[in-house]
Amino acid sequence: STMPTPTIKLSSGYEMPQVGFGLWKVANETCADTVYNAIKAGYRLLDGACDYGNEKECGEGVAKAIKEGIVKREDLFIVSKLWPTFNDPEQVAPVVKKQLGDWGIEYFDLYLMHFPGALKYVDPSVRYPPGWHYDGKSEIVRSKTTIQDTWRAMEGLVDAKLAKSIGISNFQAQLIYDMLRYARIPPATLQIEHHPYLVQQELLNLAKNEGIVVTAYSSFGPASFLEFDFKHAKALVPLMKDDIITSIAAKYGKQPSQILLRWATQRGLAVIPKTSRVEVMAQNLDCTGFDLEKEDLDKITAKDSGIRFNQPSNYFKTDMMW
Ligand code: NAD
Repeated sequence: STMPTPTIKLSSGYEMPQVGFGLWKVANETCADTVYNAIKAGYRLLDGACDYGNEKECGEGVAKAIKEGIVKREDLFIVSKLWPTFNDPEQVAPVVKKQLGDWGIEYFDLYLMHFPGALKYVDPSVRYPPGWHYDGKSEIVRSKTTIQDTWRAMEGLVDAKLAKSIGISNFQAQLIYDMLRYARIPPATLQIEHHPYLVQQELLNLAKNEGIVVTAYSSFGPASFLEFDFKHAKALVPLMKDDIITSIAAKYGKQPSQILLRWATQRGLAVIPKTSRVEVMAQNLDCTGFDLEKEDLDKITAKDSGIRFNQPSNYFKTDMMW
């Protein structure tokens, strides 16, 4: 479909494309081509992060698309994220400048705190991206930095014009209410795991009431977590094969993946699916131009089982809460 992607207005005043392209687990070798292909397919929002370890290659893909005249920088909406290792306030601007340098750009359209909890600083010359562990293997070491202190530094990014909008990811209700108490610049977006097995309706209501736009990640649920050997991901019926999803797909003449994405976008959320296959890129992008009946939206929502996959404790043993 050549229909331009709708945008959502953020509290910062900027417009964010409702459908974007996710960059987690996009391999370094293919990343530049994948980003270039995604832009060519019509994606304008790119969802990156320090932790994905591919920001240089993302930048190469962007540079190629700009050089070929497919887009200008200002047509793109580039998102990145602050890894908890850099949550200490004095580390925020330096790492953002490094990340901007990797992308080869002057500013991020949106920059998110990736997770609320702060980890002890690791110098990028020692290991980058640093991952969860202080020693790169098994040791989890916290930093004493509060979320409030990190958020002040995030606000400084807007003042310094390094980020146009700032937001949060993987935050729950209590932390958001606390943040709204002290934030000079409220979070423009909240990026969370969201699929029919994990709906988080109360959190969505909170965000809506507070003017925070929600971006759904891992829209296909367990599909993204099979490669980590998560038992609960393997035990579930894949959403693309689920009877309710496939019967709704047949009813509308769409792919199950498009039904899952439309369920989110029709309810006002932004989505950021990822694929390396060019034909699937176009298919995923086409998830705003048709409507599901309320009864079908409700049937999908009713699958909610509170099953979360992207939880730090699923990747390593810890009693830390995020
Ligand atoms: P995804 O939902 O985009 O993809 C999951 C799997 O589905 C992939 O293996 C993909 O190849 C496959 N797939 C994609 N489209 C398909 C289709 N039409 N048919 C069949 N299979 C298809 O999962 P994701 O990467 O976990 O999430 C999307 C993006 O969200 C990430 O790339 C990243 O940018 C972001 N994200 C953010 C966080 C966070 O903590 N903030 C966590 C996870 C993901």
